Amino acid sequence: MLNKQELLEKDSKYLWHQISPHNENPMIVVSGEGSWITTIDGERFFDGMSGLWCVNIGHGREEIAEVAKEQIKTIAYASLVQSHVPAIELAAKINEWLEGNYRIFYSNSGSDANEVAFKIARQYHHQNGEPTRHKFISRHRAYHGNSMGALAATGQAHRKIKYEPLTPGFLHVPPPYCYRCPFGKEKGSCQLECAQIYDEVMNWEGAETVAGVILEPVITGGGVIVPPPEYLQEVRKICDKYGVLMIVDEVICGFGRSGAKFGHFNFSVKPDIVTMAKGITSAYSPLSATAVRAEIYQAFKQPEADAHFRHINTFGGNPVSCAIALKNIEILEKENLVGQAAKMGKLLEEKLARLTVHPHVGDIRVFGFLAGIELVEDKESKEPVSTDIMLKVLSECQKQGLLAGKNSDTVPGFNNIITLSPPFVTSEKEIDFIVDTLDQALECLAAADKVN
Ligand code: PLP
Repeated sequence: MLNKQELLEKDSKYLWHQISPHNENPMIVVSGEGSWITTIDGERFFDGMSGLWCVNIGHGREEIAEVAKEQIKTIAYASLVQSHVPAIELAAKINEWLEGNYRIFYSNSGSDANEVAFKIARQYHHQNGEPTRHKFISRHRAYHGNSMGALAATGQAHRKIKYEPLTPGFLHVPPPYCYRCPFGKEKGSCQLECAQIYDEVMNWEGAETVAGVILEPVITGGGVIVPPPEYLQEVRKICDKYGVLMIVDEVICGFGRSGAKFGHFNFSVKPDIVTMAKGITSAYSPLSATAVRAEIYQAFKQPEADAHFRHINTFGGNPVSCAIALKNIEILEKENLVGQAAKMGKLLEEKLARLTVHPHVGDIRVFGFLAGIELVEDKESKEPVSTDIMLKVLSECQKQGLLAGKNSDTVPGFNNIITLSPPFVTSEKEIDFIVDTLDQALECLAAADKVN
């Protein structure tokens, strides 16, 4: 039997937690089933964030355990300097899902996949006769990973400051954030200044120095910021105008989270490079991929010895992870879970609408099966609520059995967005549970306001 006290002592002595390093009383999760997890105390919680936006098919899938066991028995490791069956089959399957002609390069995490994208983009331009193209443009509020390049692409100062200098050559533009338009415009009556800014930056930086643009279909961790419908197409046009590669980060949005197979399908654009992780295995095993348009790959097939992509990682495309990814995708297909994510997202959107009556609810944004509920001091000023208030709401939800998230630190005072990203197997009854719980938590906040 597990002894909670002993585990907590070892945890406190040996484990380095992520984000909350001095959490002396962490929740010790021991099992999961569907959309629910159970702690060592036997308490059950609805996993409203699918872990870290990743357990899309839900917890406790026997089929995944079976396929992992079979693959480990068959062959647990082979490198991709050669090839192996699950990597080949998965590359073909990802292509089918992407509905395009892409080459697939495997890595271990979303950060890795983005690093690979940056390196491929730079090398491509070198080999395509434009060696001065090295800069990347991303957006404020965006998160693209923890490694020096992916962090440089990230648009959140507080995640970066103590690790600088990061990789040079990364520029940022304001996000397409209609609720707080950085250009002072009103939704629906603008000239898509948030997209046009790319044109301006490329122009003034010198387009011949710009390698690529990296963007998520919607900014997820930075606050579920959904762009105007034409935004991505406009960015695509500007990239084409200047010969800049469009890299779409589908680490969260991919594999059904957006209600479509990939987030960019919702905006009818064809990226040059697509990066993916999390939902590729529903986090049953680490794996990521960088999908590169076949025409770009051609530049790496030249006969010169140094034309190939000089990048290797030991675990990328591990056979067990690839086999798990294939089974995960088979489950998504067999159970129509992408359709289910779209349906449940719609339902969530409809039901969340009733929360707008709360004085602290400034904006509710839903995209696919992702939601962001932005809390403000009052609707007029839109001043973000304090971290204390956020923590109060989230802890009230947790008391009722709901684990919701919050957007990552951006600038102080701007971690005021409750986030939801439930497993695709969530039922209608569970959607009611989510919304009722949030409703009660916000009610508590209103009651506390009255007392103060
Ligand atoms: N890109 C996006 C959009 C992410 O949300 C994340 C992680 O949350 C990453 C990249 C980095 O992925 P990983 O944590 O697997 O390195």
